[in-house]
Formats: sequence, structure tokens, C-alpha cells
Amino acid sequence: ERHAGRLGSFNKNLMATDLKCLRVKLVLLGDSGVGKSCIVLRFVRGHFEPTSKVTVGASFLSQTLALQDSTSVKFEIWDTAGQERYASLAPLYYRGAAVALVVYDITSLETFRKAQYWVKELQKHASPGIIMALVGNKADLHESRAVSFQDAMEYAEKNGMFFIETSAKTADNINQLFEVLLET
Ligand code: GDP
Repeated sequence: ERHAGRLGSFNKNLMATDLKCLRVKLVLLGDSGVGKSCIVLRFVRGHFEPTSKVTVGASFLSQTLALQDSTSVKFEIWDTAGQERYASLAPLYYRGAAVALVVYDITSLETFRKAQYWVKELQKHASPGIIMALVGNKADLHESRAVSFQDAMEYAEKNGMFFIETSAKTADNINQLFEVLLET
């Protein structure tokens, strides 16, 4: 579609206000401690806040990306605010989401396994057209890597997901992560 690339084809999931600005609900999933809050804060505020903890009341943030053709996309970002500790998230959390980021920590095989659990949850409960991205965070800790790039990439391809490795600490690939979601 002309104004929003890949996201434009998911209009039924988008809460579009007008043609110039698409609103996109984006949810984050993944084990506690993989860096979900840090990724969001890095993207929204541009810096790494290792000690800040997103509280339940402040678990919603938004960020607008301007596109080349003068339209824009406003990401409404929902963080789990600790709810990932429970077996399943409330359906309200997934409802209307156009994009889901499933995050794991590249130094922890356990978090990669858990990411696969969240992908299955999404396949069961989210809108069929949802765009999913698998995000391997803490890429700066590559010396302690426990999940290979290749394995994660193959898993993502099998499940029709984007795949990217990021570091909220160094800012590596954080903006690219959100930009890639807009690609046609
Ligand atoms: P959440 O529970 O998934 O929201 O995880 P947080 O965003 O609270 O991050 C958990 C811990 O991981 C914090 O101590 C962060 O400082 C650390 N962390 C987050 N992202 C990175 C990263 O990219 N690299 C490194 N080295 N540490 C990170």
C-alpha cells in the first residue's frame, strides 16, 4: 500500500485516524529480564536506562516515525509490565495488535525457548494478520552467546517472522527494528 508499506495491508488491525497518520498497536512479549523495557525506552527516549522499571500504570508509550512520503506511523507500544510471569496474558493485551515483538536474550537458551512459547500463544490468540518479529536482544554480550544467529533465523523464517538482533545498551539495530516493520 502506498502510505504505510507492509503495515498498510493490515488495515483491519490498525486504528487508523486519517491517511496521514496510522496508529499501530504494538505489543512486546518475552521473558522477564530480556530487555523489553530497555528496548522501548531506547526507541522512545533515545537512551538506555538500565535501572528504570516500567510500572503497571506507565506501561504504555508511543512513538511516531515519519515516512518519506510525509505520512507517519504512530506506534502505540504495550509492554507486559511484568504480566509475563503469569501463564498467559489477558486477551485484551493482544486484541487489535498489528505488530508483536517477541524478545529473547541471546545469552539465554531458556529465554529463546520461552519466545517460542509466546509465538505459539500469538498464533492461537492474536489477529491472523499480525506482523511478528523475533528479537534477539543483548547482542553486545556476544561473548556469552547461547543462541546462534542461524538457529533463530531459521525458526523465524519457519514461522513467517522478521528476525533481528539488537542491543538496547549500545542502540544497535533498535531503530532498524521498528523501520523494518514498515518495509514493503
Ligand atoms: P524486561 O523485564 O524484559 O522489561 O527487561 P528490562 O528492560 O528491565 O532489562 C532487564 C535487564 O537487562 C536490565 O538490567 C538491563 O540493564 C539489561 N539489559 C537490557 N537490554 C540490554 C542489552 O541490550 N544489553 C545488555 N548488556 N543488557 C541489557
